[in-house]
Amino acid sequence: MSDQQKAADAVAEMLGAGHDIHAIAIEMAFEVLHLRRLLDAIVEDSDCRFDHHGGCQEHGFLWLEQGEVCPNHEARELLSRTQQGEGK
Ligand SMILES: [Zn+2]
Repeated sequence: MSDQQKAADAVAEMLGAGHDIHAIAIEMAFEVLHLRRLLDAIVEDSDCRFDHHGGCQEHGFLWLEQGEVCPNHEARELLSRTQQGEGK
């Protein structure tokens, strides 16, 4: 099941439980802001350093395979896009 389908199912479940769409949107936006703040506190500014197997030595994601994106790098990009969207 895709993440988008999981999200759609979660919204459908909340609607089924009697929540209105406006309350659901506020709750989810609040949660996203909270998660972004947590991510911002956890993510490191340093650049990735890959070993010859593809693992990122800098951030401890040693199990990555060649060509996989380091989660720290992906999180930095996500936060960067978010901050641009918020006009920071
Ligand atoms: Zn990394």
